[in-house]
Amino acid sequence: MGKDYYQTLGVSRSASKEEIKKSYRELAKKYHPDLNPDNKKAAEEKFKEISEAYEVLMDDDKRARYDQYGEEGINFRGGFDWNQFHHYQDVQDIFGDLFSQFGFGRAPQGPQRGEDSYVEIPIDIRRIARNEKVEIVYFREMKCEACDGTGSSTKRQKTCQRCRGRGVIEKSVNQGFIMFRSTEVCPVCNGTGKIPEDPCRICQGMGFVRKKDSAEISIPSGVTEDEIYIIRGKGNYRPQGSGDLRIRFNIDYKEFTRNGDNLEKQIEADFIDAISGNKIKVNLLDGEKEVEIPSGTQPYDSIVLRGEGIPKRSGRGRGDIILRVKITLPRKISKKQKELLEEFRNESSKGFFSKVIHP
Ligand SMILES: [Zn+2]
Ligand SMILES: [Zn+2]
Repeated sequence: MGKDYYQTLGVSRSASKEEIKKSYRELAKKYHPDLNPDNKKAAEEKFKEISEAYEVLMDDDKRARYDQYGEEGINFRGGFDWNQFHHYQDVQDIFGDLFSQFGFGRAPQGPQRGEDSYVEIPIDIRRIARNEKVEIVYFREMKCEACDGTGSSTKRQKTCQRCRGRGVIEKSVNQGFIMFRSTEVCPVCNGTGKIPEDPCRICQGMGFVRKKDSAEISIPSGVTEDEIYIIRGKGNYRPQGSGDLRIRFNIDYKEFTRNGDNLEKQIEADFIDAISGNKIKVNLLDGEKEVEIPSGTQPYDSIVLRGEGIPKRSGRGRGDIILRVKITLPRKISKKQKELLEEFRNESSKGFFSKVIHP
């Protein structure tokens, strides 16, 4: 029968993958040679043994053959070695940073579409109110027209010699006692397997050039600075596809503060306006407007102007503008004004100010 992989991992013959994984995890931690500095050699052997068992029992096909024919059914050519181990990811998960510095477990990334472009647009609250369109001028990598994006003056490409057209190259890294083999994206052709026949002079064989471009966007209803607006395909060009343009609005609220769909603003009214009522001019979103200060207005009372705000997020209608009234008092008054106010006081003491006691 040969090796008993189940015994090596201390699991039953009917163990689930979860159980096998759990057991391997515990044993791997116990036998990792770097964690056994006094007994490195033996630990190394043991670590290799449990990894061999793990390799077999985690693979449905290998496990079935092993169950039927025993070790004979597996046939690790020349005995098990680390090149036949397919679970770097699990080892990496167990030991974390110990292995991650070598980049194992990550699948090599092949040719990718272009990266996204980012722009931040400063925008005045009054432009939002008017639903204006904004033109965005920015730089992005665009297809080189001279070579039609091929990177070659002949518009033809040839097979990359470095990776022989495979797009990936093999790499071996020695991690202490284990020789790991991994594949990585070919640095010469960037994973495409092809290089320009004769590098285009305009784009230096890249197939794209950095150029000024523009895009237009209507300011979205209820725009906030927390959201990103996307224009598809207006990012950096690559033959596999262009990235997107991602836009963030940086809103200047001026004298307003925002509360959801509504805007708030403080206004000043003098005490006579507040007491008697008056109309005052207030600078709103689209210019000055007369606003009625009702008689009897108290400090920081709110005046709500329905539908005078910015377009709502829902796209239906507009939010409100809420005016908070700050009442101003004169610092100095004339003799005549003082007499009038005394008269006002006497008059008031007969009526609604009667509860106020003056020393
Ligand atoms: Zn290549
Ligand atoms: Zn070109």
